[in-house]
Amino acid sequence: MGAIEALAAINLYPALLYARFLRAGVFALRDGRFVRRGLGYDVPVDPTLARVQARQTEIIALIRRMVECESPSDDPRAVDRFVDLVAAEISPLAAVQTFPGGQFGRHLLAEFALPGPAKKKGEILALGHSDTVWPMGMLGQMPFREADGRLWGPGVFDMKSGLAFFIFAMRTLRELDIPVRSRVKLLINSDEEVGSDSSRTLTQETARRANAVLVLEPGTGLEGKLKTARKGVGDYTITVRGRASHAGVDFPAGASAIVELAQQIERVARFTNLKRGITVNPGLISGGSRSNVVAAEARAVVDIRVPRLRDGETLDRKFRSLKPFDKRCRIEVEGGMNRPPMERSVAIVQLFRTAQKLAAELDVRLEESMTGGGSDGNFTAALGIPTLDGLGGVGEGAHALNESILVNRIADRTALLARLVAVL
Ligand SMILES: [Zn+2]
Repeated sequence: MGAIEALAAINLYPALLYARFLRAGVFALRDGRFVRRGLGYDVPVDPTLARVQARQTEIIALIRRMVECESPSDDPRAVDRFVDLVAAEISPLAAVQTFPGGQFGRHLLAEFALPGPAKKKGEILALGHSDTVWPMGMLGQMPFREADGRLWGPGVFDMKSGLAFFIFAMRTLRELDIPVRSRVKLLINSDEEVGSDSSRTLTQETARRANAVLVLEPGTGLEGKLKTARKGVGDYTITVRGRASHAGVDFPAGASAIVELAQQIERVARFTNLKRGITVNPGLISGGSRSNVVAAEARAVVDIRVPRLRDGETLDRKFRSLKPFDKRCRIEVEGGMNRPPMERSVAIVQLFRTAQKLAAELDVRLEESMTGGGSDGNFTAALGIPTLDGLGGVGEGAHALNESILVNRIADRTALLARLVAVL
């Protein structure tokens, strides 16, 4: 046999083996998983998955401790407590450092000690955030619980379960002595839910050294689709200054900022182009002082979402060139893109295909999705680093009272992270 045939045979060997054993009745498909027959108990074929399944109670216990340690973005002391919890959990397997987050909690950066060559080539960065949108005390209304095949609680889906999965994935690699070629880092910032202002530079700087970024945000839908594209997110504040006057005594002397702003809002709302995936949402409005005064000032805050960077540039030009309808009014426009779009690049698709293949070996059909919501993956993808997002919990209810993850997807997600890290 020549070298090429030998290689082909090696590659095909596991598949042929499975097929032969299936035919021979050695293996069976049960609950969508290959199991060994005739041992009196089921043994999953994939050793990583088997190990993770055996530790599921511990994974759930860690998720519980994480959820019960509340961490609202605007409460740095609470977030720091959560960071301490994570640091204590991973310090036996990683070198941990923290960075000040300004008015927010600390950011955590850990480098894992993993099997394989001592001198690692390349780097993989896993990204997550410690903050949640839930105010302190929310646990009273939505306590952590396990019911109906799910785990419930504030932050369980977005995104504490993703952090727990990654920690257990790294433990599994160590316990099974699976060689890892690359350095593996985990960055957990404390302000993702409020725009990542204090962590953006740290995220970008850390990502620049990475060959791939794995974002531990929740998956899409109850199938847990990965995210290979995210829209860019920005906002604009439009302030109109008019001229105040008494609405009864001297109406013509006034130039209403409210009437002017209303017209501007109509204009910018028409920038929406659903076919191209561009949305412009005037979501906040304020202005005026009393009903009998022609308004001197009014303001609107507008959220924008764009699938491509150049759509953002076009929108920016449009916002900057707004002209008043009433020449006596002045318009000020502030703002711009906050997170650039994560565009579905060839490298991102390649990374997704790798994950899809590994998931298929765990007997999970993995699909991809695009979302209008931003994450820190937007920053890293915009730097040209292949970024795969949505690798965390499978469930629903981000930022909502029904926030929950599916218990029967804990093991395969954790195993997938372990296997991804091992092959990248
Ligand atoms: Zn999140």
